Amino acid sequence: MAQDTHEPQQEEIAQQSETVKEQFASEALIALLPGLLIALVGGVVMYYQSKQGGLWVGLGIVFILIGLGIAGYGLSRLKKVREVQDVKITCPFCQEVNALTMEPHSDFRCSHCNREVPIQNGKMLQVYQVRCGFCNALNFYSEKSTGLICEECDREIPIATDEASPAKKVFAAYTIKDDNQPYDLILTSAPDSEDMVKCLQQMLALNRNQVKDIIGDLPQTLLTGIPKKKAELLVAQISVHKGTAESQVSES
Ligand SMILES: [Zn+2]
Ligand SMILES: [Zn+2]
Repeated sequence: MAQDTHEPQQEEIAQQSETVKEQFASEALIALLPGLLIALVGGVVMYYQSKQGGLWVGLGIVFILIGLGIAGYGLSRLKKVREVQDVKITCPFCQEVNALTMEPHSDFRCSHCNREVPIQNGKMLQVYQVRCGFCNALNFYSEKSTGLICEECDREIPIATDEASPAKKVFAAYTIKDDNQPYDLILTSAPDSEDMVKCLQQMLALNRNQVKDIIGDLPQTLLTGIPKKKAELLVAQISVHKGTAESQVSES
């Protein structure tokens, strides 16, 4: 039995195509230019020596051959650049396209946002968005996540991976593209119902007791500095569960 089955094999790992191409291209350049230069020097030597019936004609030829050999190697590297594959994968976090050398079989790092894209059994896992309950920063998690630490404030965010996921879909659907003015979300009334508690739990990434504390002490500002669209969306979401909330421009 092989002892270490976890050791990844180098050629099986999908790499960023651009990085691999750049590597081949720089290798090509390093060989091509000096190779041609050496061949040129050989040519010049051969030309003048043959005119004067000199002894160095042979040396000139040797230079030409060596130079062409090196340049040839450079050309073969250049050809490799064109052989690198572009498997296009859209990053689930930042939506930017990554071009990889092959289908990824393990997690890979997005070249745009530097996040680790989760891959399981050759498939990209769905990622969910969640707001940090402390600093309100947008964070992501997938089925692979066992714990979540806020990217902004380093505090732990409780994630409920076993909950039914309509709220997760809401989070995933909304985008934070046009944030003109920051808004606050203020909860003015809320029934102490199971629906409401669950809704707020997922919205704020808080635990049951924290949510119950909030409901017991209204009105309260739930979130600050969020985009208008998101604030309106959450107001609507709260009203579905028979609560009332307001969105207003954050005071700076
Ligand atoms: Zn990304
Ligand atoms: Zn945070």
